[in-house]
Formats: sequence, C-alpha cells, structure tokens
Amino acid sequence: MSLHLPATPDPSLNTRWCLFDGPHLWLDNEQFPAQPPASSTSVRFIGHNQQFNLLSAELIGNAPAHWQRHTLRQALQSLPADVVPLLARAAQLRRFEQSHRYCGACAHPLQNNPHDSGRSCPSCGELYYPRLSPAMMVAVTRGREILLARSPHFSPGMYSALAGFVEAGESLEACVERETAEETGIRIHKLQYVKSQSWPFPHSLMLAFTAEYASGDITPQPGEIEDAAWFDIDRLPGIPGGHSIAHWLIQHTITQLRTRYG
Ligand SMILES: [Zn+2]
Repeated sequence: MSLHLPATPDPSLNTRWCLFDGPHLWLDNEQFPAQPPASSTSVRFIGHNQQFNLLSAELIGNAPAHWQRHTLRQALQSLPADVVPLLARAAQLRRFEQSHRYCGACAHPLQNNPHDSGRSCPSCGELYYPRLSPAMMVAVTRGREILLARSPHFSPGMYSALAGFVEAGESLEACVERETAEETGIRIHKLQYVKSQSWPFPHSLMLAFTAEYASGDITPQPGEIEDAAWFDIDRLPGIPGGHSIAHWLIQHTITQLRTRYG
C-alpha cells in the first residue's frame, strides 16, 4: 500500500516536501524535495508511504535554481506511481482548505480539526470534510473489440474509455449503464468493478469497470462525444498515458481480451 494516513509523521522515515507555488509545485529531479524550504506557510502533514513522510506547504520566495516547476498534471505524470496518491491527497487538502475558509451556515471562520482532515465551525458546530466526487469509467467490450470515445477537448486522435460523474441518488451500477447509454446509445451487461484511483481534478474518485456489449448501435451524444467506435485490440487509436486510470483500464482490458481470444 502506498498511502498511510496516521495523525502524525512516522519518526522512522525521512521527510519530503510538496511545495506549492500558486498553480504550480516544485520537484527536485522528478522527486519531492528532501530539503526543507527556506520560508513557507500552511505546513501540513499529508501522510506517508514506505519511504517518506510528506509535508505540504506554500513556498514563500524563490525555489533553489536546480528545482523544476510543474503543473499538478505534469507532476502526477512524472512522479513514481507509488507517490501519486500522496500528491493527489496533498492537492485536494490544499484545495479544500482554500475553498472552506468560512462556515457556509453562519459565515464564521473555520478551524482545522485536530485529529482528521476536516474543518469545523467554532460558532455553530457545522462540520466540513474534503469533497469527493465519485466518477465511473468503463471499458465496454464486444469480442476482441473495445468501445472507446473522444470528447471535443481531447488532443487530436486520442480516444478513451467512457466516463462520467455519479448523480445524487444513483448507484455506481446505474451510473455506468446510464452514462454508456447517454454517451454512445449502447446497452451493456456483465458489469465488473476492477479498480479505483483518486484523481485531483478537482476531487474525483475514479471507479473503473469493465462491461460487455448487450445491444444497440453507436450514437454519439451531441456536444459531449465527438466520436465513438469499436476498436480491435490490435488496431487501437491513441489512448491516455502515464499514471491515469484510463490508461490502466484500457491496458487491463486488452490483456483480458488477449487471454480470452488470443
Ligand atoms: Zn457556523
């Protein structure tokens, strides 16, 4: 497991720093810096993995000349996979703190809870916790083919698995069936949960499924889906890369189909 969330740092581990700087953060040779910042504010313990405790802070002043400045998305792609959950947590806690400064019920300034990641109102007692938005992603298969789609904002030639946010009152299963039908007109069955990933844009919890084609012809949803198609696993288009769960899910599905169909 790559994310441990005790209340205080593990004293047997070294410390690394996740240093935010406006919309960017700083890495040292594609790693969180081990060197403490000369000046910082909003220091917070994020958690630890097997190697180090991670503290996050807002950098004040200049970073050392040999550090590299990244956007959050760049950093998620360049850090090792076992560090991604720590960065996802750091980014989401930071966003939560920035967007929950005052009580929504009585407008009093909020305080950090001493023993968890929530904030509370000392005036009326209202409690706030970092928001999580469950979203589903599904790889639908038909024989050796996989159903992939592209939205208008994807880079040219790129396709991905279908995805969408869970609506209030909706189960995950119903969400996968609804989003697949809305985006492509396809009905599915044999739904199987395979994996999840925290994805801090801005606070998604991505839940990945596989499913099999049941019925219907592809009808891309106007405005949402520019194109959707069945792709043979030997003739795939460009797909998302790096540590994204979309990349993992499509590769996982291809491996399954090769095992089944050769
Ligand atoms: Zn209040």
